[in-house]
Amino acid sequence: MLNIAFSQFQTIGFIGITHTKALQILHNLQNHTGGTLWVSRDYAQKYSQEQNPLLEKVEVYNSSLKEHLATIWKDYNALVFCLATGAVVRLIAPLLKDKAHDPAIIVIDPEGSFVISLCGGHQGGADLLTKMIALQLGATPIITGASSSLSLPGIDILGRPYGWVKGQGSWTKLMAKVANQNEIAVIQEAGSDLWRSSLPESFFKNGENDRVRGKIWISAKQRDFSDEPVIPQVQWHPRVLWVGIGCERGTSRELIDQAIESTFAKHDLAVEAIAGVATIDIKADEKGLLKVCRDRNLPLQTFPASILKKVAVPTPSTVVNQEVGTPSVAEASAIAAAKLFDEQNIKLLEPETLPLPLIVKKQIVKQEQQPGAVTVAIAQSEIEYTGKPGKLYLVGIGPGSLDQITPAAKTAIAGADVVIGYSLYIDLVQSLFRPEQVIESLPITQEKQRGERAIALASQGLTVAVISSGDCGIYGMAGLVLEQLKLNNWDGKTPQVQVFPGISALQAVASRVGAPLMHDFCAISLSDLLTPWEVIRKRLEAAAMADFVTSIYNPRSQKRVEQIEKAQEIFLQYRKPDTPVAIVRSVYRDDEQIIVTSLEKMLDNPIDMLTTIIIGNSNTYSHGDWMITPRGYL
Ligand code: SAH
Repeated sequence: MLNIAFSQFQTIGFIGITHTKALQILHNLQNHTGGTLWVSRDYAQKYSQEQNPLLEKVEVYNSSLKEHLATIWKDYNALVFCLATGAVVRLIAPLLKDKAHDPAIIVIDPEGSFVISLCGGHQGGADLLTKMIALQLGATPIITGASSSLSLPGIDILGRPYGWVKGQGSWTKLMAKVANQNEIAVIQEAGSDLWRSSLPESFFKNGENDRVRGKIWISAKQRDFSDEPVIPQVQWHPRVLWVGIGCERGTSRELIDQAIESTFAKHDLAVEAIAGVATIDIKADEKGLLKVCRDRNLPLQTFPASILKKVAVPTPSTVVNQEVGTPSVAEASAIAAAKLFDEQNIKLLEPETLPLPLIVKKQIVKQEQQPGAVTVAIAQSEIEYTGKPGKLYLVGIGPGSLDQITPAAKTAIAGADVVIGYSLYIDLVQSLFRPEQVIESLPITQEKQRGERAIALASQGLTVAVISSGDCGIYGMAGLVLEQLKLNNWDGKTPQVQVFPGISALQAVASRVGAPLMHDFCAISLSDLLTPWEVIRKRLEAAAMADFVTSIYNPRSQKRVEQIEKAQEIFLQYRKPDTPVAIVRSVYRDDEQIIVTSLEKMLDNPIDMLTTIIIGNSNTYSHGDWMITPRGYL
């Protein structure tokens, strides 16, 4: 079963040549991540005699591993070895280039107890993948980078969730200043400021002072730091610039490229900050323009003249109007694209904060001896284009202790850019968080806001984990978020959604008292906030009558006290007074309380919103502290 939390690393190559245990570990990971598992021909032959079924799932290489690695080196974003670290170091040494290009290199010991982030920790993603593999295997991650031990986000990956592009600067020097805990100034002129919440205020001062030993710019501007060698400076470029282009039919790719480059250079703007290109719809098949977009990996947004002519622009042209039916192509389409982009993401913004987006008016670029002419205008959106589809993980974290969360759910939490949940549950999974992550905890009553916020962020391209206690699909957030997605005309694909199941309270509670759910059972929530009491009452009656073992969620709150009394009354009509009842509060948490009592006496015990009750069926009996429902074997 593929776990989409690993899809950010696609593709992963797994390499193991030593023993079957290693093969099993790697095969398990391959299953979850969808990568390729490579084994040597010798190994495959040796084990094929044992008819090891795992061998059907592997790819076999014929050359030496050293030669094989050289051929596959560029095919993978991450390579995971189950080999001696020394051997891996020797194998990869001749292939390593630099931090920006090398794949993530990870080594797992053949027992599967340790996972080492060997190379490409930040930009290669090895630190994160190491953590996620370790969570998946229940192993210890070994991450030796400085920012990891300081619990600070890596500055060279800070903008990755938002699709920002790394610009020029003294990155290594700046990172050294961060590692030495110097004060760093962050000057942000564009893009999301969500990253702030994950940083200690005291560390990254906003603005300048004498103690500042490094500067991080977050901006669409192109800055040249060569004159200021003393303090290391770096720049991230959020993709906020929409380039409106008008051109004559048949204009070459080169001329369009040149027009963009020269306009950006003239206005000190970074081409890395380009979100996309916009034009009029009749240019949707303009070859040169399409090539520019393809080569630069930019989306092309087109608008009909009927829309463009409604956009107020500084430099309208009557000639253009006569030709194509709108007085402006470049300016109007740049503005329209920026606004459209922001407005689709409006939930993230206060609409009235939207400024007029045009930052460069129409420029006409021609080249002697070259046919055609290009007009360029640039508008800036409030929200950056991340260039990736968002993901929503709907995660059940189980009843409350870390060892009761599935490994897959842990990888989803550790792998997300943003984790959203009710504050109590956020606290329970604290230890899984990374310093780069944005954690948003909201009060218990704000389920709808939590769901909307998650969808808005995922629509922008972020990976968002929404957590619920127990199972997220049982009185949890999963159903709400899916309903909200549907209301937003979700196509079922983007954002991509995966539900990560968890141990629900009824299972957790049952496990602490024995086996009360051994026969047909049901769950009923007594909360009448979203369900009319009449419906709840009917279901209690039906469950009692049908002799279902019944788990009661949300049994009693401070204000809502009678429902549990009525429930008892209903059950007493159909079941004996000594029917065993389990009342368990905060199961698998530090303040766990377990009571096994009877239907008749159940209300003599403390019951609140952290409690789940299980009422046995007519055959359920207690034995000491245990509660057993016969399946019928004996
Ligand atoms: N999605 C959750 C249920 C949320 S509804 C799940 O699958 O478990 C909230 C109710 O769940 C609480 O009122 C309580 O009845 C129950 N509950 C949640 N966590 C619990 C715990 N640790 N111990 C006992 N009951 C719990």
